[in-house]
Amino acid sequence: AAKDGGRNGVREFDPQMRAEAESRLRLEQDLRKAVEGDEFTLFLQPQTTADGALVAAEALVRWNHPTRGLVAPGGFIAVAENSGLILPLGDWILTEACRILRRLEDAGSPCHLSVNISPRQFRQTTFCATVLAILNQTRANPRRLTLEITEGIAIDDVHDTVAKMRELSACGVSFSLDDFGTGYSSLSYLKQLPVSEIKIDRSFIQDVDGNSHNAALVDIILSIADRLGLRTVAEGVETAEDRDFLKERGCAIFQGYYFSRPIPVDAFFRAYAPPALPENVQPRVEADAL
Ligand code: C2E
Ligand code: MG
Ligand code: MG
Ligand code: MG
Repeated sequence: AAKDGGRNGVREFDPQMRAEAESRLRLEQDLRKAVEGDEFTLFLQPQTTADGALVAAEALVRWNHPTRGLVAPGGFIAVAENSGLILPLGDWILTEACRILRRLEDAGSPCHLSVNISPRQFRQTTFCATVLAILNQTRANPRRLTLEITEGIAIDDVHDTVAKMRELSACGVSFSLDDFGTGYSSLSYLKQLPVSEIKIDRSFIQDVDGNSHNAALVDIILSIADRLGLRTVAEGVETAEDRDFLKERGCAIFQGYYFSRPIPVDAFFRAYAPPALPENVQPRVEADAL
């Protein structure tokens, strides 16, 4: 906190606070250059059935920093949100995601794609028009696009939030309530927001098999979703035990390190949507397999 008793009664910040403020400012400047310089990339993490069949993927942004290497979103999304840089960055993410969606469809893959939308991005009055323009420009199928939102989006104005969701839903886009169960009034938002999917937060999934509290909560979340006719995605599934527990209780879709970490787009295509071979052409047998 600011200390009293500085020279001439001017409040002086302690050195640690100043250092933090300076490093935040530097990060913001770096981020601004990164947005202009195209330093971002999307990773894809598969969402599968219990048996590992691919249903969809979540797009997760990474910052390819010139000196720090790949930076995870935890290290910059909050700063992007507070500085407003999330707006150009969010547009880039949506455009890139829709291009990937188009590529998947062209490759004959039925894979859907989920994209995280930050509150500030969603609250823009032009949000719906932007999403529709990007879908149009990339020729991606809106029925394969899911927007992941959190309760934070609705806090200011539930009415406006619902109106935007309805507008996009009417065009085929669907919504998922991310990090479900971690907010202040998850059930109240679940009642009001027209989502078709909930993602059970990783904190409930972790060790769901060994932790009876988590097991009880996940059980209840799954039965609420079932009663409301919502699809459920479990995020952060790390072990076969977690997977088995969730499968037994009717969870539909699984995402987590047990199945796959988030991977670069090219690796994702190689693993899940390889280019179709022309007819009558047999795969070449590798020499060392003979
Ligand atoms: P989220 O949307 O809840 O994404 C899931 C996070 O859990 C990802 O972290 C993912 O890598 C991680 N995860 C998945 N499976 C496992 C697992 O089995 N174990 C563990 N320990 N972690 C797992 P990531 O990529 O670091 O993203 C963190 C958060 O940053 C996201 O949470 C989301 O809130 C935000 N974020 C990521 N990409 C974007 C984006 O493109 N736009 C916006 N606005 N936010 C994003
Ligand atoms: Mg998400
Ligand atoms: Mg989540
Ligand atoms: Mg989360």
